[in-house]
Amino acid sequence: MTMNGATKLDGKVALVTGGSRGIGAAVALRLAEDGADVALTYQGGAELAEEVAAKITAMGRRGWAVRADSADPQEVQAVVTAVAERFGRLDVLVNNAGVGVLGLIGELPLDDVDRVLEVNVRAPFLFAQAAAAHLADGGRIVTIGSCIAKRVAFPGATLYATSKAALIGLTKALARELGPRGITANVLHPGPIDTDMNPADGPDAGFQSGLTALGRFGTGADIAGAVAFLVGEDGRYVTGAELAVDGGFAA
Ligand code: NDP
Repeated sequence: MTMNGATKLDGKVALVTGGSRGIGAAVALRLAEDGADVALTYQGGAELAEEVAAKITAMGRRGWAVRADSADPQEVQAVVTAVAERFGRLDVLVNNAGVGVLGLIGELPLDDVDRVLEVNVRAPFLFAQAAAAHLADGGRIVTIGSCIAKRVAFPGATLYATSKAALIGLTKALARELGPRGITANVLHPGPIDTDMNPADGPDAGFQSGLTALGRFGTGADIAGAVAFLVGEDGRYVTGAELAVDGGFAA
């Protein structure tokens, strides 16, 4: 916060997908702390999503939790329109919702392949497409990729790595296309982050920690801080970039 009480994202409106828990919840709260009004999507976790929205409201911002299944193109389009209408504008899209499915290539059923590609790839594409119609000059798109897109350090990640690597192409192409409108697009690659998807006390947590340079898991707040940088004023000349926030996993 500055001396006169203005915060960095005052007057901005952000949409965070998958904001009910984990990284998305931390990002939603951080952007609200920095001054933004924040809408967040969820699929099943209504109660948790409402709690995040209530915390945002308690900070004096507008918070809104909306059920929207990333796998449903109609719901994706509808939620973007609804947020822009309700809040009167859209400045920031954080493509965070994702699913982690691991398995050897011979053992991955088509249903899993479809679900992961729908939620992790098609949805960020469709969210960006829908958001591009509303984002103003100075708009920001941040997509949550994965350190696995850069370094596949163990077997069983063909599907997940495929989905996350696709987001690099999406980001670079968005940067080129939206740059003339003053909109940036970046992809952030988290390392192992302590969430429901990847608990720091899970069975292979020690193995994952050992793959990082820092020797430990990160937190949602670690990712949220980097998102805050990318969407804030200091991130204005960063676009088409990949930012690793991974404790050195890819080093
Ligand atoms: P969590 O499983 O803890 O949370 C996932 C979030 O996404 C929840 O809010 C969930 O909503 C939402 N979500 C999942 N599927 C859908 C869907 N179909 N429609 C709408 N919302 C959905 O995951 P993380 O916080 O760990 O992961 C967030 C992102 O970070 C993902 O893209 C993940 O791939 C990526 N990532 C995570 C890493 C980690 O180690 N944790 C490492 C690298 C990348 P609901 O509560 O309703 O289910």
